[in-house]
Amino acid sequence: MYTFRMDRICANHWCRQPFEITPADEEFLQKFECPAPTMCVSCRHQRRAMFTPVLVFHRRPSALSGTPILTMYSPRCQSPVYSIQEWWSDSWDGISYGRPYDPSGDFFDQFQNLLRVVPKISNHNEKSENCDYSFGAYNSRNCYYCRTIARSEDVYYSELITGKNEGIVDCYRCQYSNYLVECMLCVQCYGSSYLYRCTNVRDSHFCIDCQGCSDCLFCHNLRNKAFHIGNQPVDKETFKKMKQELMDGRHSTHMKNLRHLEEVRMETIWKDQQNVNSEDCVGDGLFNCARCIECFSCFNTVDSRYCWELTPSETTSHSMDVTRGGIGELLYNCAGLGGKNYFARMCANSRHSSFITYCTYCFTCKDCFGCTGLRNKQYCILNKQYNQEEYETTIRNIMEKMKSNGQWGEFFRPEDSAFAYNNSTASIYFPLSKEEILDRGWEWEDIPDPTLGGIDASVIPDSIDEIDDSFLDSILTCPVSRKRFKIQKKELEIYRMLRLPCPRLHPDIRIKRRRGLINPYILHDRTCRQCGKVIRTTFGPERKEIVYCESCYLKEVY
Ligand SMILES: [Zn+2]
Ligand SMILES: [Zn+2]
Repeated sequence: MYTFRMDRICANHWCRQPFEITPADEEFLQKFECPAPTMCVSCRHQRRAMFTPVLVFHRRPSALSGTPILTMYSPRCQSPVYSIQEWWSDSWDGISYGRPYDPSGDFFDQFQNLLRVVPKISNHNEKSENCDYSFGAYNSRNCYYCRTIARSEDVYYSELITGKNEGIVDCYRCQYSNYLVECMLCVQCYGSSYLYRCTNVRDSHFCIDCQGCSDCLFCHNLRNKAFHIGNQPVDKETFKKMKQELMDGRHSTHMKNLRHLEEVRMETIWKDQQNVNSEDCVGDGLFNCARCIECFSCFNTVDSRYCWELTPSETTSHSMDVTRGGIGELLYNCAGLGGKNYFARMCANSRHSSFITYCTYCFTCKDCFGCTGLRNKQYCILNKQYNQEEYETTIRNIMEKMKSNGQWGEFFRPEDSAFAYNNSTASIYFPLSKEEILDRGWEWEDIPDPTLGGIDASVIPDSIDEIDDSFLDSILTCPVSRKRFKIQKKELEIYRMLRLPCPRLHPDIRIKRRRGLINPYILHDRTCRQCGKVIRTTFGPERKEIVYCESCYLKEVY
């Protein structure tokens, strides 16, 4: 049994933020036999996020066959990398890299030595077709430049698109939706663009916090309305005419629309915590959640604490401190977990496994500790096979040693990650300069600039109508990043369908701008603009948006 103190200070000398371990946290931790974390919630997420990559693709030969592969691992990662097919083939077995645990040595050092030699899978795509330029596609088809996509097709430059979706471009955490461009935190939306936190909305554009609406433009906080522009009702004919003018497919008109959307943003009444279909939750961006505490941008998650961006197609429950993941139960201090894990502690990037501790890239495993790259194994430590009794005795010994030196319960060390800080998800949640990264002893890696050239995207034709299919062969150069990009065929069809101009910025810049619209995952105290009551919200006290407490919000928006 551990004893817990309520008031703690983050162990990171650059942070030193106070944080709490509540009695409910304590109950969780006892279940996992782990001590209280030493870092604050944000620093814990930051550490774990270092183990999941941003979208950067590298070409390298497969270490097994020499055939060229596309992978998330830069040459900096010295481990052998196999193609997806090779990794899943019977031509090798992770168990052959097994080694005995040395009780006199450091566990993390031994694990790192194992990580260096066990082949890595080039990409986490599973059961997916034509998704080579995406990471973490599951049961999906034709996805390009995406991260974490499940059961979806024709998805471009988007992340956290799960449930069933089709025709999604430039979106973030959308579920059960079709034909969307630039939408964020939306569920069951159709044929729309620039929707933010909308549910069950169709044929609408530039709207914020609308539910059950159709044919709306520049609206906010509407419920079950149709044919509205700027929150005012208009007759069907007028709507049609105005929509044709406002959405004429011209870039110049579009830029005006985006400025108008900024005004809509400032007119929107924001509920202190914007959760939909969720009960007894503290957090933000939650959909279909219950009893979640300090969780952000999660979907289908219940009875969990301190989780970010869980988007299971079914449910994740009874979990604490998880950064991005799929279906699971009893997960603690994990990152990038795929579907259907049960009782995982301090694990990353594993799927369909149970009772795993300090494991990465383990699939359909049970009772494994400190393993990587195993499939269908049980009772393994550092990839070495044991019988049940030896396994249990050995893991007890490792745990005792780690408890005595303060390692037990901590996530893997930053140096154990295959990704440099600036190429990991941590750099998205917590952007830092190169100097700050190096000062903290973390790694920075420069990715060589792509070859310059191509057509300057700022001078492409103004109207979508002037862009024919021959344009698909053109290489465009982003005026901001100078990076090159192309427009995909299906993508162009979606722009035409929704009467939107072609984007002129590189997908990375678009992803970054979109991310900038999400408030950092932290709750601040401020007062309700209407009644003055103290509320907790992701809008910091200095922010100009109109933020209401729940009861004032419900009086205005229903
Ligand atoms: Zn901290
Ligand atoms: Zn109020």
